[in-house]
Amino acid sequence: SMTFGGAIRAAAGRNPSKAAVVMDGRETSFGVLAERAGRLRDAAIALGVTKGDVVAIVARNRPEFIEVVAGVPDAGAAVATINPRLAPVEARQVLEDCGARLVLVDPPSRELVEKTGIEGLTIISFGDAYERLLAEAPAPAVVPVIDECDAWTIPYTSGTTGKPKGVVLSHRSRMLVGLICGAEFGCFGPDDRFLAMTPLNHGGGLGFPVGVLAAGGSIEILDKFDAETVLERLKFGGITGLFMVPTHFQMIFALPPETLAKYERPPLRSILANAAPLPQALKPRIMEYFGETVLNELYGATETGLVCNLRPQDQLRKQQCVGTTFPHCEAEVRRDDGSLCDPDEVGELWTRGPVLFNGYWNRPEETAKAVKDGWVSVGDMARRDAEGFLYIVDRKKDMVISGGVNIYPREIEEVLFAHPGIADVAVIGVPDETWGERLRTVAVARAGAVLTQADIADFCRDKIAAYKIPKELTLVDALPRNANGKVLKTELRALE
Ligand code: ATP
Repeated sequence: SMTFGGAIRAAAGRNPSKAAVVMDGRETSFGVLAERAGRLRDAAIALGVTKGDVVAIVARNRPEFIEVVAGVPDAGAAVATINPRLAPVEARQVLEDCGARLVLVDPPSRELVEKTGIEGLTIISFGDAYERLLAEAPAPAVVPVIDECDAWTIPYTSGTTGKPKGVVLSHRSRMLVGLICGAEFGCFGPDDRFLAMTPLNHGGGLGFPVGVLAAGGSIEILDKFDAETVLERLKFGGITGLFMVPTHFQMIFALPPETLAKYERPPLRSILANAAPLPQALKPRIMEYFGETVLNELYGATETGLVCNLRPQDQLRKQQCVGTTFPHCEAEVRRDDGSLCDPDEVGELWTRGPVLFNGYWNRPEETAKAVKDGWVSVGDMARRDAEGFLYIVDRKKDMVISGGVNIYPREIEEVLFAHPGIADVAVIGVPDETWGERLRTVAVARAGAVLTQADIADFCRDKIAAYKIPKELTLVDALPRNANGKVLKTELRALE
């Protein structure tokens, strides 16, 4: 059966000395990874972990992260991957929710877990304690049998849409994501090296690198995004593919021109952009800098797995589009009454396929709301054109209703991203006595640019209908974003 641990053992069997994980120039081979993951499984069993348990990891990106998600699930436990950047109260919420008794941490996160005040946890830090655990792991009397549909990891939603929820992902769904990506992008094979710089605690951040490893390819891990380091690795580090979120591109193109010139046109096979809308205004720039044939924009959520992809050849032809569905993945755009929308009519997106999640951890009601007859919706509004291409219009909860009319801020943000004086922008709805809600622009001005409401209204005039032009402007130094580059609109709405 398809498990991640099994895929790593298989890769080690084929080529034990091949590099699996690289970080700071240190290489872990597939043979060593398989051996250490096996010891961790044995240690977990010795610590009393059994089938159906949850073990948590709270850590920044590091090679042990991969050992944990390869080894612990073979002891029968799902790994809850918890964001190490949470505040203690938030970490407490998530740790209590998942119910883990055993928590693996990187040294800086130990204090965070201790500060949650949860009693009776066994906390093991990477470093000496963890190495001792592996070295002393006794051979187990019985090893549990793992089914590919068993829970493998439980990433938590970032909470941009409410309380964080644990998304239960099976081995099977994630291994299939890897195989589907391999077929689509050709950058998930044994000859590939993938740069992993997004947080491994996030569904997508872990899913892509794991898919590459399962196929026998190598990954190089960074523990944070630094624009110049990334460009240097792409140009000179033998990297063939990477996963980027839209803000990464913005940070790269904010580098001085002479720095950018040093790393232009790296020898990449694929860039997979995902996690938030990629502004159309950036695309020509990305293609000019990285090459015409590398940029893919994927759409999906942790719950749905990958749904669709816009291929390089369609990037400029299809504007603000997320492409067509992956093989085996069905998508329907539906009206509120469940009937199917006509071409170009906006409705809620529902998807079905082999890469869906198993459900939310311990939240049957939330699961029942998101899953109907095997179809899943995470509340994205979409339309499909006559050629079968899908467009994500906005998230349902970011939709603004002004004077009874539905407005999707995403469309307005796209227009404003092309404004020469705007470095970053979000459009939100704020309460309005007459209209119910009115639109407000929250923008970061480019250095030296003077932005005014009148100027923004002028800029929008011939591009969007008058009722979609924001009525007011708030200037900020930076937009609040989560680690995946998503603007935290709830925080913006709370600004005065
Ligand atoms: P939360 O649901 O709390 O935001 P999260 O950020 O962890 O949690 P993800 O599963 O990573 O959740 O986010 C998936 C969402 O990101 C999608 O539902 C969609 O709204 C948005 N998204 C992802 N890729 C794209 C894309 N290419 N274009 C537009 N939106 C996208």
